[in-house]
Amino acid sequence: MSKATGELSPAAAAARRIAAERPRLEFGGAVWDYAPAPEATDHVRLARRYDLFVGGEFVAPRSKRRFATINPATEEPLAEVAEAGAADVDAAVEAAERAYRRHWSRLSGAERGKYLYRIARLIQEKARELAIVETMDGGKPIKEARDVDVPLAAAHFFYHAGWADKLEYAFPGRAGRTPRPLGVCGQIIPWNFPLLMAAWKLAPALACGNTVVLKPAETTPLTALKLAEILREAELPPGVVNIVTGAGETGAHLVNHPKVAKIAFTGSTEVGKLIQRAVAGSGKRLTLELGGKAANIVFADAAIDQAVEGIVNGIYFNQGHVCCAGSRLLVEEGIADELLAKLAWRIEQLRVGDPLDKNTDVGAINSKQQLDKIRELTQSGVDEGATLHQSSCPLPAKGYFFPPTFFSGVAQSHRIAREEIFGPVLAVMTFRTPDEAIEKANNLAYGLSAGVWTDKGAKIFAMTRRLRAGVVWANTFNKFDPTSPFGGYKESGFGREGGVHGLEAYVELG
Ligand code: NAP
Ligand code: MG
Repeated sequence: MSKATGELSPAAAAARRIAAERPRLEFGGAVWDYAPAPEATDHVRLARRYDLFVGGEFVAPRSKRRFATINPATEEPLAEVAEAGAADVDAAVEAAERAYRRHWSRLSGAERGKYLYRIARLIQEKARELAIVETMDGGKPIKEARDVDVPLAAAHFFYHAGWADKLEYAFPGRAGRTPRPLGVCGQIIPWNFPLLMAAWKLAPALACGNTVVLKPAETTPLTALKLAEILREAELPPGVVNIVTGAGETGAHLVNHPKVAKIAFTGSTEVGKLIQRAVAGSGKRLTLELGGKAANIVFADAAIDQAVEGIVNGIYFNQGHVCCAGSRLLVEEGIADELLAKLAWRIEQLRVGDPLDKNTDVGAINSKQQLDKIRELTQSGVDEGATLHQSSCPLPAKGYFFPPTFFSGVAQSHRIAREEIFGPVLAVMTFRTPDEAIEKANNLAYGLSAGVWTDKGAKIFAMTRRLRAGVVWANTFNKFDPTSPFGGYKESGFGREGGVHGLEAYVELG
């Protein structure tokens, strides 16, 4: 309220109006008030309740079950979402199968491409709303949702729109034969990049002529449902994409459905292994994008300030909820003291707090469960004898927050050096020779990504050849592009997403 006039500021007035327009939620015996929406959320349209998106319509769940999705920065509910049971997944797969047979598999590549271009443009048109919803539902800083997630999601649709009518040229040596689509694809995605992962999954599947049932993560279903609205606006034929919100069990129904021809999964290595077992012998195609514990290797000849920025981006981007995060720093011994002093100073400068504030660098941890996991692993670092360095920034009283943290004096045997923390916590180790760096970088069961910082081009090539990681960045980190394949080795999964390599997972080449 303005002190001078006693009138409401425009922001407060908007917040009050939105709060008044949106009734209280009642379910599970509880009643919640909607959070008054802050200024930035003024023109965001969130329904009180979201149904499943099946056969081109929003339909109530046959399971009759629903759950709330909350804003992790405020701990308040945003909307009520349907929990798809076995019968709902069945209806979605049937709708996808019908759409595949009747429409989508008969359409020319050029026609499919037109729909993808339309979807890409609608994502661009609604970029602001999508970014705000992504930030509210998942906790990521608005500047990241705005500058990374949403533009890249559009870019994935644009890129794959271009492939839709050129698939016969994608796979050399096939003399103009057009690859065949697989049928219904079941796609399961995690909560760290909800809209972007939906785009990574949907765009290549549709470009290649498949239809889809998509299962978003339990804590971040809203941008997938916003995307469903976009698909309707783009007049995508009903059933080509179906979206079933729910928990892990919903995903398991999808994995086990006999009419699903292919499963594409991004998530934890633990669930990835369960899925691999579940589809064994079924004839279903499978791609898995799983966890990681990337080594970010800094040589003494690197531009040190640039490297510090890369380290910060590598581990604190998206609160460290990044499968390819540079979560293990390997620094050449001679510069370790100087680099760590700079890093300690730098993490004090990071702004932690309200994800909707465009100056925020580190937002909210996605869920209470994830915060507990980060705390537990951080405590293990202390207990096992590593030295804790933590930003002294104040944390908001409400919501799930964790300060930017790194550990020095880490041994390879420590849990913080071996386990994926999936939070803003970096484990720092040193090395003396390139061989030692390679040995340490490659010594885990993960193999998703890595980074190399050096002034010498020859050293970059020598190192990247020996690093057992699907993606290696040189003098940069966490850079993504739809033209570039992404995926892991070993327990980080198999198959590639993005680029021409990513198409292969969605076609029959025989
Ligand atoms: P998660 O627990 O494995 O969940 C991923 C998705 O699978 C969610 O939609 C989840 O539903 C669903 N799910 C859970 N149990 C299932 C089951 N038994 N059968 C089928 N689906 C099931 O992973 P998360 O915690 O959401 O995500 C973090 C993990 O993903 C990290 O390990 C990270 O490294 C990895 N990740 C990898 C990549 C990559 O490209 N390699 C990218 C991003 C994240 P619920 O949400 O309802 O549990
Ligand atoms: Mg949420």
